[in-house]
Amino acid sequence: VFAHVVQAPEDPILGVTVAYNKDPSPVKVNLGVGAYRTEARSLGSLDEMDFVKRLINPFFRLAFYPICPFVTGREAACSECEYFIYEGIRKVYYFPFLSRGEAVPDKPWDVFMSRVKEYLPITGLAEFNKLSAKLIFGADSPAIQENRVATVQCLSGTGSLRVGAEFLARHYPQRTIYIPQPTWGNHPKVFTLGGLSVKTYRYYDPATRGLNFQGLLEDLSSAPSGAIVLLHACAHNPTGVDPTLDQWEQIRQLMRSKGLLPFFDSAYQGFASGSLDADAQSVRMFVADGGECLMAQSYAKNMGLYGERVGALSIVCRSADVAVRVESQLKLVIRPMYSNPPIHGASIVAAILKDRALFHEWTVELKAMADRIISMRQMLFDALRARGTPGDWSHIIKQIGMFTFTGLNSEQVAFMTKEYHIYMTSDGSGSGAVVAKYGEKSVYFDLEDLGNT
Ligand code: PMP
Repeated sequence: VFAHVVQAPEDPILGVTVAYNKDPSPVKVNLGVGAYRTEARSLGSLDEMDFVKRLINPFFRLAFYPICPFVTGREAACSECEYFIYEGIRKVYYFPFLSRGEAVPDKPWDVFMSRVKEYLPITGLAEFNKLSAKLIFGADSPAIQENRVATVQCLSGTGSLRVGAEFLARHYPQRTIYIPQPTWGNHPKVFTLGGLSVKTYRYYDPATRGLNFQGLLEDLSSAPSGAIVLLHACAHNPTGVDPTLDQWEQIRQLMRSKGLLPFFDSAYQGFASGSLDADAQSVRMFVADGGECLMAQSYAKNMGLYGERVGALSIVCRSADVAVRVESQLKLVIRPMYSNPPIHGASIVAAILKDRALFHEWTVELKAMADRIISMRQMLFDALRARGTPGDWSHIIKQIGMFTFTGLNSEQVAFMTKEYHIYMTSDGSGSGAVVAKYGEKSVYFDLEDLGNT
């Protein structure tokens, strides 16, 4: 009965990884998928952030456990080690009963088990939701203080966007969303399948490899009143081109005057500048004016928790009772979709966000990652210049965040892949590449062969 099903094309971004995995070359490099790596792990798995690794590593947990009660604020990190210890004790405790074929009597430590792996509510871990809203909107945000924000834990950034889209399709009268041209390849599909109709606004100027600010303003000015507008909070994917604060302010004024609804996508907070607060400035400007907005947050990149699928959708409302009703409707979107979100990643994030020492360690590592990305950009730019590679490569150092829009066309990308085993996305007008992967090895590639760009 399924014989008529036709072969679907590979996802343009994840398809790059499929091709990369098939390549037996020992020097292959994958610049397609947006994942931070260093040369230490350039061919292998992701670099886990050190402090996250410590939370996850059972030996660390065991070593740390005896001193937990004496270190204030670290209790949260211990729920993980409690679980680990619980497992050990449980095995020892069970053995005599099970070996005699008797029932095991109730054990006090079952409490840990239920706390650690029980179902979460539909809206996720309440503590995680609260901390996530604080992280992006700022602890002193009036919207938070006035309880005007409805936050639900979702399946990373993608899931947050999808839940937001389905909510808007059901409860917002204007179902058109304007997305930047270009944008992350999954955006149009997420919004279309979420029930919205997708249009684009001009964003990137291939001539300057910078922002087409005039085009952006013109397109938003001619959008119908009330339309939804997708905005990348920082480190725009795939161009690496962000508006300046002054430009953000002009965008805000225009959008508010036309009643356009901002839907922020924040997948890189802390990755652009290294400062969590600086990378949230665009969002905070919109929240400060008292108007509504949506926010899809991802912890995939900034906590290195890609596969844990941790994210949050926040809807900033005009009043606390609207926020309560909005949350009740978000539950109706989520329940038939996946019932409730996974607990593990959200517990890790909450443990880090609420503990002053862990939070500090996180920001230090985040800053080091952001700085490394900036220095990798500089190294690549210097290497291209030193080889006299034709073309102006200054966009590589001007662009922000993990991605650079190289300006290579699809034939040049195909050449890079065929000759040098460098894999990256290609859409004809340019290619997104992960700058962080420009480890030592990649700057030695002979880019002169690429010809004119
Ligand atoms: N938005 C943007 C702009 C992205 O680049 C990504 C990841 N590539 C996402 C959202 C979603 O990521 P995730 O679902 O892994 O959090």
